[in-house]
Amino acid sequence: MSRIVYLNGEYLPEADAHVSIFDRGFLFADAVYEVTSVLGGKLIAFDGHAVRLQRSVDELGMNYKVDMDELLDIHRQLVERNSLEEGMIYLQLTRGNPGDRDFVYPAQDTTPTLVLFTQTANLLNNPKINTGMKVITVEDQRWARRDIKTTQLLFPSMAKMMAKAAGVDDAWMFEDGAITEGSSNNAYIVKDGKIITRHLGNEILHGITRAAVLKFAKSAQMEVEERAFTVEEAKNADEAFITSASTFVMPVVEVDGQALGDGKPGSVAARLREIYLDESLKQAI
Ligand code: PMP
Repeated sequence: MSRIVYLNGEYLPEADAHVSIFDRGFLFADAVYEVTSVLGGKLIAFDGHAVRLQRSVDELGMNYKVDMDELLDIHRQLVERNSLEEGMIYLQLTRGNPGDRDFVYPAQDTTPTLVLFTQTANLLNNPKINTGMKVITVEDQRWARRDIKTTQLLFPSMAKMMAKAAGVDDAWMFEDGAITEGSSNNAYIVKDGKIITRHLGNEILHGITRAAVLKFAKSAQMEVEERAFTVEEAKNADEAFITSASTFVMPVVEVDGQALGDGKPGSVAARLREIYLDESLKQAI
């Protein structure tokens, strides 16, 4: 079934939505994006994603002002027009098409290109919840401003391919011996009951799910330490997990071939997933 997508003010069948070959998103990856998950036809953590979008836009000096009401309406229209029950809504925003290729940013009156599309997925019954994910570690070769959610996703794609070639589910990236994050998620270990995840900075994306999960963990009296942890610490952890908008909280049971704890999904990850889903569903809009 063909989707109805949004492109610069219009709702169109996907085959009729066209973007110029001179669009800076295509020529320079001069673009940012957001992914919001949909459960039961409702948006999870919409506000957090909209606020982060504005931050990415501002960091890159793009000419775009997030209008929360308008953006919410577009998301809801896409849910309705595509009868989306469970899945994701992708939002892609580029600096637009100035008509020529030029490294220099175009004049501020160049209209940005805004695209939103839906993707159906089985998020709640992801089979990896029961088995847990296996990861390898790879050197983080992305650019240095990973806090901006740009569409420069080539290295994360390469890392996923390395994971696939190694017969595992994902890759955790490291820099100077310390884990930054997963290829498309934030990374956590648990040691002696303490949840450890890298502190915020330019080295990682400030996950919307991360913020919510850490808040819930703290209010459930769980101990949280935000600091860099090494690859060795990850391999010797009692348990591990990832968070992202589309996986929520997902257990990790193996790092670089080494089983963590008893090699089964851990109890901290299971508890956090339950709290996160309970609270997020209550607040879904
Ligand atoms: N880090 C990276 C590199 C990501 O791509 C993502 C998912 N977009 C995340 C972390 C998780 O962020 P969020 O919880 O906002 O989906």
